[in-house]
Amino acid sequence: MTTVVNVSGVGKTYASGHCALRSVDLDIQRGEIFALLGPNGAGKTTLISIICGIVNASAGTVSVGDLDIVNDFRKVRGQIGLVPQELSTDGFESVWSTVKFSRGLFGKAPNPAYLEQILRQLSLWDKRHARIMELSGGMKRRVMIAKALSHEPDVLFLDEPTAGVDVELRRDMWEMVRGLRERGVTIILTTHYIEEAEEMADRIGVISKGEIILVEEKHALMDKLGQKQLRLQLQ
Ligand code: ATP
Repeated sequence: MTTVVNVSGVGKTYASGHCALRSVDLDIQRGEIFALLGPNGAGKTTLISIICGIVNASAGTVSVGDLDIVNDFRKVRGQIGLVPQELSTDGFESVWSTVKFSRGLFGKAPNPAYLEQILRQLSLWDKRHARIMELSGGMKRRVMIAKALSHEPDVLFLDEPTAGVDVELRRDMWEMVRGLRERGVTIILTTHYIEEAEEMADRIGVISKGEIILVEEKHALMDKLGQKQLRLQLQ
């Protein structure tokens, strides 16, 4: 197994004085789907944002491959894709020009065949000429994923990919994420749904009050979730 993301001793105290993360250590293996499971306010978005280099840690280090997220930010950015929790839904542009433009932002040479593949996999190919603003919420979410994949990243971060999504779309998303892993993409997602972590992940890290309290293979974790103590920490 190869470690693709290493988080070591990461802490975060916001300017408000709020301590959102305390000395987090985490290794993500190449090719796995890793779920960061925790209740609202546990620190999931903060941790993802630090790993992706869009929020600075107050302590500790993050590396992606052999690169340090702070010192090699531009290079690392090319290797990762981030789908944030909040959707940007104001696009006048078509789906196709949006993903093409997004790829160009990373300085990648055009690759229409790759973009077609991604849009087909995300069931967006038939909508490629539609303006983003005309799409349903679920389709917009798919466009966000297509954008994040446009530059062929090795690692994809999905921050609460199914928050506020209906059951059918949630199942579609699960299917889609598994399909991406088949392509060799390492996936790190955050969720506060236990059943989502169970359905999708190979390994699960439980985060509570800014601390990773447990990292386990899915099945081992599900056994431990039977314990009342752990359930209480997830509420
Ligand atoms: P959710 O599931 O609700 O998105 P989360 O697990 O992603 O929660 P974070 O968004 O990382 O949690 O927030 C962790 C804590 O840090 C929360 O108490 C939050 O209020 C606080 N926090 C987040 N961003 C900031 C900020 N910019 N300034 C101050 N405090 C912040």
